[in-house]
Amino acid sequence: MDRELNLLMKNITGDVSAVAGWLWQRGWAERNAGNISVRLAAEELPSLPEEPSTLLPLPGRCESLAGFHFLVTATNTRMRDVAARPLETLLLIRISDDGTGYQIVSPTGETDLRPTSEMQAHLCIHEMLTLRRPDHRVVMHTHVTELIALTQIRELCDAQKLNSILLGMHPETKVFIPDGVGFVPYILPGTRAIGEATVKALEDHSAALWEKHGLFATGRDSLETFDMIDILAKSASIWFICRSAGYEPEGLTEKQLNELAKLKF
Ligand SMILES: [Zn+2]
Repeated sequence: MDRELNLLMKNITGDVSAVAGWLWQRGWAERNAGNISVRLAAEELPSLPEEPSTLLPLPGRCESLAGFHFLVTATNTRMRDVAARPLETLLLIRISDDGTGYQIVSPTGETDLRPTSEMQAHLCIHEMLTLRRPDHRVVMHTHVTELIALTQIRELCDAQKLNSILLGMHPETKVFIPDGVGFVPYILPGTRAIGEATVKALEDHSAALWEKHGLFATGRDSLETFDMIDILAKSASIWFICRSAGYEPEGLTEKQLNELAKLKF
């Protein structure tokens, strides 16, 4: 059975470990920064072992996620290690039938590994996604330097102002992230309060910026979610490069943005 579980883990961790490596290489995952969770589909989980394992408590009740399996990065894990050793740094967990706890399915046996400290925020977001965007199964948090820098500028700490910069810097941003990002004013990380504020910000956006901290993004798969983060970072970089050169970037005009909004891919 361990062999089957190992094979399953190899199949479901590939994209996540690739993306973890890219986040590290881009400088968006210093030390143990960043975390990823993926809600798995039933067809990805053939014949899992029914071995009983310890039921661990969740910080908050998640009834709507009862019985779901998630692949999550372990707490204190470095993204570069997820890239190099996915089977030792990613956990497969199952939410209990009453939604109050979870069991670790892999690695099997007694493990000291525990899910990311941002698990509460991830589960709150997954609860919202199952209702509003059920095809979005990935939640990714990372410290995108260029985007964090924008939220260090007080006058830009507002979703409308941030989006007017991000959407105006490159046509791709309007095409692939037409609604822009949500914004979450500074709240202590790891708390239910920041989880709830992030859910609100993500209800109508696929990405939300945490003031002075980083980005939460959702997507259908890990690669698509990374691509969106990459595009947003590109837009922020263009803005900073223009400003560093002493110029105020013009941005795409309203007419150009409206044309882009009509493009179909
Ligand atoms: Zn963080």
